[in-house]
Amino acid sequence: MSFTILLKFGEIALKGANRAYFENTLLRQVRHRVRPFGKFSVYKSQSTIAVRPEDPGCDLEGAYDICGKTFGVIALVRAYEVEKDMDAILAKAAELAPQLIGGAKTFKADARRSDKSFPLGSPEIAAQVGGAILSVCHDVKVDVRDPEVVVRVEIRDEKAYITGMQDHGAGGMPVSTNGRALLLLSGGIDSPVAGHMICRRGVKLEAVHFESFPYTSERALEKVKDLARVLAVYNGAVCFNTVSVTQIQEQISKNCDEEYFTLLLRRFMMRIAERIAAERGCSALITGESVGQVASQTVEALTVTNASVSIPVFRPCIGLDKEEIIARSRAIGAFDISTLPFEDCCTVFTPRHPKTKPSLSAVEAEEAKLDVQTLIDGAVAGCRREWIQYE
Ligand code: ATP
Ligand code: MG
Repeated sequence: MSFTILLKFGEIALKGANRAYFENTLLRQVRHRVRPFGKFSVYKSQSTIAVRPEDPGCDLEGAYDICGKTFGVIALVRAYEVEKDMDAILAKAAELAPQLIGGAKTFKADARRSDKSFPLGSPEIAAQVGGAILSVCHDVKVDVRDPEVVVRVEIRDEKAYITGMQDHGAGGMPVSTNGRALLLLSGGIDSPVAGHMICRRGVKLEAVHFESFPYTSERALEKVKDLARVLAVYNGAVCFNTVSVTQIQEQISKNCDEEYFTLLLRRFMMRIAERIAAERGCSALITGESVGQVASQTVEALTVTNASVSIPVFRPCIGLDKEEIIARSRAIGAFDISTLPFEDCCTVFTPRHPKTKPSLSAVEAEEAKLDVQTLIDGAVAGCRREWIQYE
């Protein structure tokens, strides 16, 4: 049965004078995102966005799913439209009852009336709708305190709606309302989660991946693009930058003390990312680092890595345990891709005994053995750029 999708805003409702800007951005994005699922009209309706199918061929569940992955939407619900007439409302409630109640044991009917000219008051509407449901579903009872299902009737200015249970939306803020940042995206578990967390705050993501071909394979790169595709579901198309660090890694391994290999590489990655961020108009970097997770993420190592750049670096996973990161990875649909076994450039040329308490001066002394600027210029010049869309 056809329905309109109603989207509730989260935090953006609190944005005071900027509220219209946030709402209009969200409206535009929802309009764009539901387009592949058919012809919809998308409009603001009181304090919600309504997504209304305009022809019977619309993929409503597809549209519902993508609305649920749109940042800025805190909750969403299927709303069945009905004439603003009590007989019509009761007939519709009875028709929808089996579907809305499902296998629940208890329910409550609830009514809201923004159109005060409607002849019945809210308690009266709720009572009658509850009765209509009970006349069809015989195994369910009314429980006004703690119902499993709430069936709501909303009498709005234009129409009346009957809605069932609402689902949680993706939360956060509409993408692009909070600038742009460049995610250092590896094939691991942490960096897609880090990207998702910052994107959720309204920051448009771009990605840079460092490969070390032929030490890393074409298939390993494809895996990272698949992760970018997962992020694109939330972010919209991701500008994906691939940079080879093969030459840098060969120079490091030829000239430097093995204990510092990983840290030296990480500082190169940060500097190259800073350059690409400048080219792309990104004002921060994002990494999946988490304190203490590996040798290169001790407080001392992070300090040395951080000292290589002056651009702000966001590390939203910094205080999360691996288990928490994994739970987030599963929730966003990245985990099964992240755990495919492919090599990463960090896993080639790895030191047997990495320095866990490096000093900046020691690392700088190692870097002095390299032509850092030429290596960075070469890597940046070879950057390949493409757009990754979600399917
Ligand atoms: P992840 O699970 O995201 O791979 P990790 O715990 O394996 O993280 P590291 O390999 O030390 O940690 O990398 C730390 C961070 O550095 C990653 O989260 C990512 O942001 C960035 N990074 C590491 N390798 C690459 C790469 N090949 N390309 C782009 N960024 C990378
Ligand atoms: Mg990694």
